[in-house]
Amino acid sequence: MSNQFAIQESLARLGLKSKNPGTSTGIKSIDSDGDYFSSYSPADGSLIGEVQTTDSDSYERVITLAQLAFEQWRKVPAPQRGEIVREIGNALREKKTDLGKLVSYEMGKSYQEGLGEVQEMIDICDFAVGLSRQLYGLTMHSERPGHRMYEQWHALGLVGIISAFNFPVAVWSWNAALAWVCGDVCVWKPSEKAPLSAIACQLIASEVFARHGMPEGICSLVNGDYKVGEMMSRDTRIPLISATGSTRMGKIVAQTVGARLGRSLLELGGNNAIIITENADLDMAIRGALFGAVGTAGQRCTSTRRLIIHENVFEEVKSRLASAYGKLVIGNPLDEMNHVGPLIDKEAVGMYLAAIQKVEAEGGKAVVEGAVLEGVGYESGCYVKPAIYEAENHFEIVQHETFAPILYLIQYKSLEEAIALQNGVPQGLSSAIMTTNMREAEAFLAVSGSDCGIANVNIGTSGAEIGGAFGGEKETGGGRESGSDAWKAYMRRQTNTINYSSTLPLAQGIKFTI
Ligand code: NAD
Repeated sequence: MSNQFAIQESLARLGLKSKNPGTSTGIKSIDSDGDYFSSYSPADGSLIGEVQTTDSDSYERVITLAQLAFEQWRKVPAPQRGEIVREIGNALREKKTDLGKLVSYEMGKSYQEGLGEVQEMIDICDFAVGLSRQLYGLTMHSERPGHRMYEQWHALGLVGIISAFNFPVAVWSWNAALAWVCGDVCVWKPSEKAPLSAIACQLIASEVFARHGMPEGICSLVNGDYKVGEMMSRDTRIPLISATGSTRMGKIVAQTVGARLGRSLLELGGNNAIIITENADLDMAIRGALFGAVGTAGQRCTSTRRLIIHENVFEEVKSRLASAYGKLVIGNPLDEMNHVGPLIDKEAVGMYLAAIQKVEAEGGKAVVEGAVLEGVGYESGCYVKPAIYEAENHFEIVQHETFAPILYLIQYKSLEEAIALQNGVPQGLSSAIMTTNMREAEAFLAVSGSDCGIANVNIGTSGAEIGGAFGGEKETGGGRESGSDAWKAYMRRQTNTINYSSTLPLAQGIKFTI
């Protein structure tokens, strides 16, 4: 009850106090005739709010407003755009506690992780402010006398952001903060499983744009399930679709966007492993593996799903992990005493149970058995026990990303074998090695080492910082978001050659005279 009370206050402070928060605030100034869908908390099963689906007429209005807004926004100097993003970051600072709580309650991650997610949004806003003065192009030497060559980066247009339930707000900000300083406008379709967190963000950001007299279409929200995402993927008015979610979804979006020769930026599923060598600091290895496997109840794209352990330390790692799992407290994510919250919904629980059945059928041996938790505090039906199985890398279920806290232990003899096992899955997001041996670490990072977008040494697979480019290879989709030069995905490059001489020489020395 106290949680419920606290969350109602947070909802009110975030501007989500009406019974149907989506009705008036979900899509700014745009009426929709779409049906309502409900957002339930996996923490306690309560209905948090109802949100109106964006129907095709209201979608058209959103896109038209976004196009108009782009005409204006792209002409605002980038550092001034950065100033507005700075204020969005400040507004997020003010709302951090309430938004963190809502993210935790609506998605089910721990309150600390909810706060962490909002902090990530603040961090990317800060990054984007600096970036707004650094959208550099290169200058080249022309082969022709009296010529100058350079490249510049221009705003691309509308950026469609399709996001997953597990990072219901941060992924939007990785895309939106960069896209805005690049001069683009954003249309966001959040996960239908966490729409209220998205509406709260939309309110926070759009209030800042409005305060600066900016058109509302710079920051738009469309709500609903995959059908709304499909409208965006097909829409030739959206040059870039940034889609985060399952590989299944990414393959569909890539084909649809590719068929119209649009750009897609894909952040898809992972199947992340930590290699624990015989030279690992086992205290660090256990801690890294534990948080990686059970944090966010195993619902991070970077969650640790496989531990590839040297045969000499296999038994010790196994028993220490089993004992650490025995101390995990599972329960309401808003209660900071708990380590593990619920899965997102009962469908996810069904997938967790199916994976356990499958690994057992394939010959996996339980180290820590899984179960669905029942009774007081677990009424939502979404709480499960994190499980550990001894397994083989080639098992079909091990090759597959199950979005739940199931950890597979795999034994190896040589580092070459370990790296081959680590790479021997269709996905390529995050990877790690735990070792105090420099040769092992460097071999893992070399070109013949990890094939993932993220490769860490003595850090687990999850918990990336915004400063680096985030994303993965193979079935993870190849996209890069967030830091480094990920901004280039949100702009179009133009090469300019200027002739300041009084002749017109052709490139490659070609002669053409009449
Ligand atoms: P999901 O694929 O079910 O849904 C993600 C989003 O895509 C939702 O908004 C959904 O409505 C939309 N969608 C689904 N089908 C679509 C279609 N055909 N066309 C357009 N849009 C469509 O994923 P989920 O269950 O919300 O999230 C979990 C998955 O996301 C996991 O696989 C996880 O690894 C992945 N993920 C990846 C990253 C990353 O950065 N690589 C980050 C977070 C989550």
